[in-house]
Amino acid sequence: MENKLAVFEVLNSINVNDKKETKKSGKNELAYLSWAWAWAEVKKRYPEAQYVIYKFENNLPYVYDELTGYMVFTSVTIEGITHEMWLPVMDSNNKAMKSKPYCYKVKEYSTEGYFTGNYIDKTVECASMFDINKTIMRCLTKNLGMFGLGLYIYAGEDLPESEIEEKKRNTADNVFSDIPKSYNCSNCAKEITQAEYAFSLKNFKKSLCRECQKLEKEKNTNAIK
Ligand SMILES: [Zn+2]
Repeated sequence: MENKLAVFEVLNSINVNDKKETKKSGKNELAYLSWAWAWAEVKKRYPEAQYVIYKFENNLPYVYDELTGYMVFTSVTIEGITHEMWLPVMDSNNKAMKSKPYCYKVKEYSTEGYFTGNYIDKTVECASMFDINKTIMRCLTKNLGMFGLGLYIYAGEDLPESEIEEKKRNTADNVFSDIPKSYNCSNCAKEITQAEYAFSLKNFKKSLCRECQKLEKEKNTNAIK
């Protein structure tokens, strides 16, 4: 048991910050460890360490499912402990790649960060052997993470920046889920734009046209005086 704990402690104590590669893809930034470096660090300390890339039908290193896409599987054994890892083949937006390109829609946001009501088409390209190979190497590196090596960089790895932002926005959408199709000032009933409505809701907690926003501001300032 002492020995088993030691593997994790040894590998977990290695600072990987210098070896962290970040890949920027659009708004996403993903952190990677180089497989060659990670494996070398392990082998230096545990020369008997071994890894397995699982092969399936026709000796192919992946499982493919029409609905969910490609998945690769690896295992690593160090000092008699084996951990398995699996990883779907994903594009830079963390969307599962399939044997054919496919489209999906994302919400369009205004520069102020409000959902415009429109959707943008995005395409996920089909996966190639290059993508599968890349995923296997990432899977192996992540597999080493199970032994402690660079584990901390995987903490938020499955969620790129843009998706974290999107989650926040969705929460904001939920707050405003009762937004009607057309917007009117609650004071003078004048029709207002969605941007004005959103701005007003955020700043005045109610729907106001620009004029009434000014009045409200004056009222608030006077109240403070
Ligand atoms: Zn008004």
